[in-house]
Amino acid sequence: MQTIKILDTKTINKIAAGEVVEGPKSVVKELVENSIDAGATSVTVEIKEGGISYIRIMDNGSGIPKEQVKTAFLRHATSKMSEIEDLEHIFTLGFRGEALASISAVSQVEIVTKTRNEETGTFLEISGGEIKNIQDTSCMEGTTIIVKNLFYNVPARRKFLKKPATESGFVSDLMNKMALGHPEVSFRYINNDTTMLHTAGNGDLKASVFYVYGKEAANSMLPLCYKKEEYGLTGLIGKPELSRGNRSYENLFINGRFIKNKVVATAVEDAYKTRLLIGKFPVFVLSLEVPPSQVDVNVHPAKLEVRFKNDDEIYDFFYDAVIKTMEQQILIPQVGWDK
Ligand code: ADP
Ligand code: MG
Repeated sequence: MQTIKILDTKTINKIAAGEVVEGPKSVVKELVENSIDAGATSVTVEIKEGGISYIRIMDNGSGIPKEQVKTAFLRHATSKMSEIEDLEHIFTLGFRGEALASISAVSQVEIVTKTRNEETGTFLEISGGEIKNIQDTSCMEGTTIIVKNLFYNVPARRKFLKKPATESGFVSDLMNKMALGHPEVSFRYINNDTTMLHTAGNGDLKASVFYVYGKEAANSMLPLCYKKEEYGLTGLIGKPELSRGNRSYENLFINGRFIKNKVVATAVEDAYKTRLLIGKFPVFVLSLEVPPSQVDVNVHPAKLEVRFKNDDEIYDFFYDAVIKTMEQQILIPQVGWDK
């Protein structure tokens, strides 16, 4: 008979890391989201070898207070919620308190961080979940995290990483989404010493679209602003002639988080239907602001999916928003017979 026993923390963290950390892209996603949650206005992301050997994220956010740096790396340690009811009004991108614990369980991490009020910053080195070094250091306000040799201690996972070029492609896609979802943040993304993306961070979405999709796309977008009850939608939708052969130009953000959602995609596509050829898909960058109580973001560890309280309502809302925008800005207004 096998004995039933509770796994040790390190093993638990390594297993749990599998849920949050798939590869370099998910590490970058979690860390950039932390930077945004920390109020950063400038975030630099640097990767080498597709992020497998090296990822560096530098932000000018709030920093982590010295006495809390170690705690931040514990599982379920978060400053963003304290009880389940908080999920009803949470606006941060993170809340599970799992990213730092998971990432540091399966890689070699160095962090330098300082808050505004501290004289000196903190340097911490943690490998495979074990703290190797912690000391004071002089640094600027904000946080820099370096993640080296992802899955160095989990060969079974490391085997499943793709070639560096493929992994860096995933990171590039992610950075594009980040730039589109957060025009208020200046992002710099460097891949093997080459700057791939550098956004101004002045809040102008059209400028982000220009950086990410180019001039032609930026010039063929219509501004959309639509409100109904507690839903507010803003962004840009492509003129029908800007359509693309796949769905990868469909960008939906809910409360700042990139989300894949079938109901929304269908609603927007249906609104375009009569104006697009078969097999073509619209280009859009839409940000929905909604009370957190109306959506459940806690259905997927990577928070890529959400569940809405009322799918029909959401469908109608997006359909109407897109149809009205196109009617106002493309079609010649219909004049009634009595006028
Ligand atoms: P979560 O984001 O779900 O809270 P994480 O494991 O990603 O969990 O981070 C744990 C905590 O560490 C956060 O709640 C936050 O207080 C702090 N933290 C992490 N990254 C940063 C950062 N870049 N700047 C400031 N604080 C950070
Ligand atoms: Mg986080």
